[in-house]
Amino acid sequence: MKNLSDINVVKSLLSRHGFQFSKALGQNFLINPEICPKMATECGADQTKGVIEVGPGFGVLTRELAARANKVVAIELDKRLPAVLAETLRDFDNVKVVQADVMEVDLHQLIHDEFSGLDVLVCANLPYYITSPVIMKLLEEKLPVESLTVMVQKEAAVRICAAPGTVSVAVQYYSQPQILFDVPRDCFFPAPNVDSAVIRLNIRTEPPVKLETEEKQFFKLVKAAFGQRRKTVLNSLSTGLGKSKEELSAALQQAGIAPTARAEQLTMEQFGTLCNLLFPNKAQ
Ligand code: SAM
Repeated sequence: MKNLSDINVVKSLLSRHGFQFSKALGQNFLINPEICPKMATECGADQTKGVIEVGPGFGVLTRELAARANKVVAIELDKRLPAVLAETLRDFDNVKVVQADVMEVDLHQLIHDEFSGLDVLVCANLPYYITSPVIMKLLEEKLPVESLTVMVQKEAAVRICAAPGTVSVAVQYYSQPQILFDVPRDCFFPAPNVDSAVIRLNIRTEPPVKLETEEKQFFKLVKAAFGQRRKTVLNSLSTGLGKSKEELSAALQQAGIAPTARAEQLTMEQFGTLCNLLFPNKAQ
């Protein structure tokens, strides 16, 4: 099969299959020859690994993953793409294409059925319109996977890995995130309006804080704390949780948090302590 990073090869594939890009499905395909080999290597794909790819598109990353991993299962929503993938992936016998919406797939079952005896990784150039929902599904379902290596918009990479907020605290609860490298917009066809970055989330085996209550209370607290950015955490929690300022002030004091603190100043540990104080005795 010819080089899928060659724009002329891609254009000929497009015209032969009568394929037109769907903006709604976030279809910006990688055409820079360096990015996919780098992603496939840095995600850790090797013969001991099974890899789940979300959104294979024409298979440019899938081929790099299949060349390194023991097995790849690629989940693609677009019904037009399995025919293209049958052509671009014909040199590989270790790839299975599942035509489905990743949000609807039972991934525990898929891992059980497809990756027996293998460590499992996720590697994907994610469709931008559902970046956070896909990442949160992959994390919240507590799948037996080692890491997620995903390409997202640069702004989302910062929001997930660095900037304090509801998403980053949730992601950091489940994983240790890091930005691996930037990917400029001209690496894609068609080129999007923004740059991207590849991030890796190493899944934690133990949560970073010990909760004495249900996890959903922790996330409710975090959401309420970041709910009103310019307010102190005391005021945000009072509005967001509907609790009295007396109760909240006492809990903040016990958790060693200044009454004037804002949500972005709180550590993961302080969120955990606060959660245990505000939602006690609801053991999981
Ligand atoms: N992996 C290819 C690449 O890097 O060139 C394509 C990446 S493109 C950014 C995102 C892909 O995700 C598209 O192929 C799109 O059709 C697919 N997609 C969009 N929504 C999806 C969903 N809900 N479930 C599975 N795949 C989806």
